[in-house]
Amino acid sequence: MSIVVISIIFPIFLLLNDNKFTNIDIELHFDGDTAYSYVADQMNINSTHYRIPGTQGREDCAQYFISKFQQIDPLINYTLHNFTILSVECQNVLFKINENFSNIVILSAHYDSRAKATKDLTNPDWPVPGANDGASGSAVLVELAEVLYERRQNLSVQIWFLFFDAEDQGNDPDGPGISGWSWCEGSSKFVQDIENFYNSSKETFDAMILLDMVGGYNLRFISEQHSTSSLLNELFETGRQLGFTSAFPSDPTVGTIFDDHVAFVNYGIPSADLIIKFWNTPVEWPYHHTTNDDLSHISNNSLEITGKTVEQFIYNNYYEINNQFQGSFPWSGDLNLLDSDLFLFVIILISIVSIAVVVLFLRSRSNRDKN
Ligand SMILES: [Zn+2]
Repeated sequence: MSIVVISIIFPIFLLLNDNKFTNIDIELHFDGDTAYSYVADQMNINSTHYRIPGTQGREDCAQYFISKFQQIDPLINYTLHNFTILSVECQNVLFKINENFSNIVILSAHYDSRAKATKDLTNPDWPVPGANDGASGSAVLVELAEVLYERRQNLSVQIWFLFFDAEDQGNDPDGPGISGWSWCEGSSKFVQDIENFYNSSKETFDAMILLDMVGGYNLRFISEQHSTSSLLNELFETGRQLGFTSAFPSDPTVGTIFDDHVAFVNYGIPSADLIIKFWNTPVEWPYHHTTNDDLSHISNNSLEITGKTVEQFIYNNYYEINNQFQGSFPWSGDLNLLDSDLFLFVIILISIVSIAVVVLFLRSRSNRDKN
């Protein structure tokens, strides 16, 4: 009987156990107005306002991040990861703090802007300004770097701030950003070369968090299905406990987005994509891949909600006086099981239940025989 009970209770326990924690009580320093100014900086990087792969604007934007991080720490460790897509020179930009710790959390966003506003009804050949689609996540990363750097000596984790080039040039139903390019070229190149950026015998990745389109009005994150569910659920619960219940709804839209986290999931790193519903022209965000994805549709409040949630997440898990991990660390639980995994799980469950039933039947018969 106990086997039957365990086989039924255990999956339910896994489901419920995802959210058993409380945010630690700590003052959050992430500032939405500052993050907003970093979106504006990216929009004003040069006269073209765009950060299209292979252009001066994209190069200037990488230099902008370097200058911001050098303001945080003049000796900050950074790496330019060069690669080419169809002979266009591209660059991911990586900054590291607290390198003496062997456990690594990656905070990431793409910073390229789309070369063509393929969903724009009037000007589909114009570039996308990319205030939300690109600049918002990157701005949150810069502000997060500032606030986490202040408290780095209390944080028992190494943190990477990783800016991807060449994310947003793939094929829409309405056409490509750049002809012949796929989505997420930068992140997949990064993961191909990831062994060059860390020492796999000494260092290990705890988690990867991706911020994509986090700065629009009416922020409402989705339940993204490539994401490691225990990690994404913990981010949702962290945000809800901060009072951000409309950004992290209890009944989020479900969607499967091929984004920069997928290469990291496939590499075996628990990863989560904080992203909104952008397909089928939703009323909350109708500007996706149009020329209207500009600064006028950016909300400092949405940036602050995103930034404070990630800041709190880091403290919950790594602030050293805390002494014990909150939440679902090491985020190995993933209920977004692949079909084959789910199939195997069901087969094992059925086998266990069947064996239990047979054992019970035999036992009851032998008891009856004794009587
Ligand atoms: Zn995009």
